[in-house]
Amino acid sequence: MPEGHSIHRLAGRHAELFVGDKVQAASPQGRFAEGAARLSGTVLDGTEAYGKHLLHHYAHELTLHVHLGLYGRFADGPGEPPPPVGQVRLRLTSDAYWLDLRGPTACELLTPPEVAALRHRLGPDPLRADADPSRAYARISRSPTPLAALLLDQSVVAGTGLIFVTEALFRAGLPPLLPGRELTPALWRELWADLVALMTRAVEAGRIDTVRDAHLPEVTGRAPRVDRHGGEVYVYRRPGQPCHVCGDEVRRGTLTGRNLYWCPTCQA
Ligand SMILES: [Zn+2]
Repeated sequence: MPEGHSIHRLAGRHAELFVGDKVQAASPQGRFAEGAARLSGTVLDGTEAYGKHLLHHYAHELTLHVHLGLYGRFADGPGEPPPPVGQVRLRLTSDAYWLDLRGPTACELLTPPEVAALRHRLGPDPLRADADPSRAYARISRSPTPLAALLLDQSVVAGTGLIFVTEALFRAGLPPLLPGRELTPALWRELWADLVALMTRAVEAGRIDTVRDAHLPEVTGRAPRVDRHGGEVYVYRRPGQPCHVCGDEVRRGTLTGRNLYWCPTCQA
């Protein structure tokens, strides 16, 4: 599933392509036909990402809400759109660009109260200027739940997925199973600041890099990472391999059905 930085990139991209323009909307697949008909002919006023949720705000208080989930994907391009291939849930076109959405978990129109409810159920998003990390800490500091699970819970922190969470915990030297209530305010401030920094960098680069300069392949002489996700990481999907910092073997475990990765020495 894409992490929050991808959704923020999409929000920026869609704003570049369409903001200020009247768009035509269609649902070649048919599942969003009614919503597309309501959007068609309206002007896109702005876009917004909140965690893993993408919002397009149109004139007349119409908001399009998209959650890509595991399989959702956007494609776009200049000029005339190609003939729709596969299940295109939503196609937007302007005089200059087209945009296709396939396979999302959610593609729906929201009213202003529904937008407010969506914001209300999400925790602070490290990529948003309006994020209040103390809201997240209020949840974390009362909870016996493992820190990794809390940080993956979108109602605690929004936009963080498994890569950012496992890597930020490694960088902080914190074990993923540490109960939330054992995290001190000072450690939370550091962890939040690191999430902001890592995620901001990922928005700029379009990929997730979490390894400090001192541990990069060109410095240490190790082989670079080979993985379709790209980017240099410390522990994510590196079970059985040596830790870039201490050489101990990276471990894998599961937590509520998801994989966790950590270094037993650096995160003791
Ligand atoms: Zn280590």
